[in-house]
Amino acid sequence: MNPDQLQSALADLDSLGLRRTRRLLDGPQGVRVTLDGRDYLSFSSNDYLGLASHPDIAAAAIRAAGQVGVGAGAAHLLTGHHRLHHDLESELAAFVGLPSALLFSTGYMASLGVIPALLDRHGEVFEDRLNHASLVDAAVLSRARLTRYPHLDLEWLDRKLGESRARTKLIATDTVFSMDGDLAPLPELMALAEKHDAWLYLDDAHGFGVLGEKGQGALSRLPALGHRVIYLATLGKAAGVAGAFVAGNPDLVEWLVNRARTYVFTTAQPPLLAAAVSASLKLIAAEAWRRRRLAELVGQLKQGLTGLPWPLMASDTPIQPLLVGGNAEALRLADGLRARGILIPAIRPPTVPQGQARLRISLSAAHARADVDSLLAALRDLAPT
Ligand code: PMP
Repeated sequence: MNPDQLQSALADLDSLGLRRTRRLLDGPQGVRVTLDGRDYLSFSSNDYLGLASHPDIAAAAIRAAGQVGVGAGAAHLLTGHHRLHHDLESELAAFVGLPSALLFSTGYMASLGVIPALLDRHGEVFEDRLNHASLVDAAVLSRARLTRYPHLDLEWLDRKLGESRARTKLIATDTVFSMDGDLAPLPELMALAEKHDAWLYLDDAHGFGVLGEKGQGALSRLPALGHRVIYLATLGKAAGVAGAFVAGNPDLVEWLVNRARTYVFTTAQPPLLAAAVSASLKLIAAEAWRRRRLAELVGQLKQGLTGLPWPLMASDTPIQPLLVGGNAEALRLADGLRARGILIPAIRPPTVPQGQARLRISLSAAHARADVDSLLAALRDLAPT
């Protein structure tokens, strides 16, 4: 793209209805938000446990800022690796039941660091078609061959793994698919990784904090964790803070410290964020009522939608996409809800396949039953008669 082409490219986005704009948030993130100066009931954040503006977490951040300041000032391998980071890594590893963990600034950066640190052009990465963009970009950056398999099609994957002559193989999957809310079959994927001597890279961005009795995430669904599991969780969604961590065996973490370029060549996160995450972990583990509330709200939503024209997709997680079909209908519904003070994004192609436009309803433990009732009433109101 040349400088003088940008204006017309933006105009093209406009004419295709694909131009994205940002809405301005005032005040805290939560289920009640002020966006562009208007108050809404929101079903559109990833703050699944309602922790993003929890006072204990904010207080931990403020306390740490008072004690150690704000900026990390350097990369981890220089002088930026603070004791608060280090202690949090131990806590996170124990939390998910793996021996070692390493903090990254974001989930996106973690994947961009890990996959190219392990695979080069002699490797092959196998990815579910519905994986998050960061996993696709990480594979491309590694220069390994990228093979995308049809969503959850393990037979197809097994065949392609068997045909591959790559020196290193890695299977990468979202554990909870971000636009569908369904789960990857982890034990079966683990068995394929064993059979074909591959790494298994699990992106638990939407499972950490939400799945498992104590919120330990998707690994709670795997009976045993071998040395081939690489676990990624992000800390800006259910944990309500920012950043990400990768967990696995100690050799893996040691290799990443040395060779993950997005770890080596970037400034460490402010240590106050580590203190905030540590406070968040305590709430995640102790307040199981947040996960129970989510399960109740999912049940209420499913029941309340019977009789309305649009099906929910098969999901038991807080991501509850309402399958609308056409783009125009999805936009009509999102606009209609917004006019009634309710925010839910319409997700359209190319993010999802043609004809599968949807409203991505995200539930939060901070929602009350009455909030779901308001949503159901608005949808009833908008249903074609
Ligand atoms: N993986 C998945 C599945 C995600 O949904 C996201 C965020 N949308 C990321 C990774 C990236 O995480 P972060 O926001 O921490 O960069």
